[in-house]
Amino acid sequence: MFDASEILTAQLDNILERWKTAVRQDSRIESSADLSETALKDSMPVLLNGMVKALANRGTENYEIIASASLEHGNTRAKEGYNAAEIAWEYQILRRVIFSVLEPQLLQGSSEEIIRTIRTLDAVIDEAISQCYTSYIEQRVKELEQVRSQLIMTNQELTRLLRTSKDSLAYMAHELKTPLTSIIGYSDLFLRQQQQTVNVQETVPNLRNIERVLQSGRLLLHLINDALELSSSEAGKLHLNLTCIEIKPLIKDVVATIEPLAQAKNLQLKIDYNQAPIQVVTDSFRLRQILTNLLSNAVRYTNEGFIKLECLSHANSHWSIMITDTGIGIPQEDLTHIFEPFTRASSNTYYRDEQSTGLGLAIVARLIKLLQGEIKVVSQLGVGSTFTITFPAEI
Ligand code: ADP
Repeated sequence: MFDASEILTAQLDNILERWKTAVRQDSRIESSADLSETALKDSMPVLLNGMVKALANRGTENYEIIASASLEHGNTRAKEGYNAAEIAWEYQILRRVIFSVLEPQLLQGSSEEIIRTIRTLDAVIDEAISQCYTSYIEQRVKELEQVRSQLIMTNQELTRLLRTSKDSLAYMAHELKTPLTSIIGYSDLFLRQQQQTVNVQETVPNLRNIERVLQSGRLLLHLINDALELSSSEAGKLHLNLTCIEIKPLIKDVVATIEPLAQAKNLQLKIDYNQAPIQVVTDSFRLRQILTNLLSNAVRYTNEGFIKLECLSHANSHWSIMITDTGIGIPQEDLTHIFEPFTRASSNTYYRDEQSTGLGLAIVARLIKLLQGEIKVVSQLGVGSTFTITFPAEI
């Protein structure tokens, strides 16, 4: 008679080792790279023991072991900075490893035994995933509520600064407002959905929103530090962190943070990066800053139609990104001035809101110069604008 729990008990260390190696090698679980061996394993042995017991005897008591171990696991992973997809991959790998260990003996069992074992194992692993997500979400919601109330206060302070000051603090305030608005918007949305949701299955899709909030939160912290640096140093002293990055995921991420703003105005967001270089050497944080600024301007100054981002590589070892909108356009006589601080085009008289300080493009131009690139703009009043930035493939 085939006994899965017996085989698993004998193979626990082997399963744990194979799982650990596979997680380390899986590029989809980036956060595991920062974990020590002990941190990576954390609650896994307890969880595996629970699974073995649940397989041997499907009693409530044994499901409780799985529940508490996977609750602990979700809580720890949330604190370690895992996102929901990474947790899911960890469990997928566990499922794969367990089945590969059982497979040789399982295939010798009767079809009834095979079906029963697969069903039980799936139920046990699904239970673990569900519990893990529950505690992961609770942990994230707690963090989110704290971050949200702090950010609302910061946002009010920044708005006050923008109204009263025209010095480097206003410069900093402008840069902080875009991620702040996104964080507050997404966390409000998530918390409202969370209040209406009764079960984990319905909450899981919302996790993407939390991930974006946390990503914007991290971006914000980075920005605060750099803005402070910027206010006390000259442009030449700005520190660049050059690395070789994949361009498509970066573009996708930035576009995702702008999406809610575009959706709120019913604007279509198109991306075309079929001709994009695969990798480029750049400062990914600065590049995100540039793209976020240009895209949020495109949304702000467009009332209907679309925003399109196109990324191309050129034969002369250069690559470029074009951001086109079907917005209000910029008069020819203003085209050269819009990159100067505190300058607005005469076409935007009706679009002055709290977020418009006339600083975004000045910052963008400065960052592009630092990255050895150039920016060009063509525009037609009432038709739209295209901002093209070009960089060398290697800096
Ligand atoms: P602001 O905070 O005012 O948007 P920016 O420095 O980003 O400051 O832009 C300077 C000016 O350039 C804006 O006030 C606006 O008049 C004009 N502008 C920038 N991007 C666009 C665009 N996509 N369409 C039309 N006008 C734009």
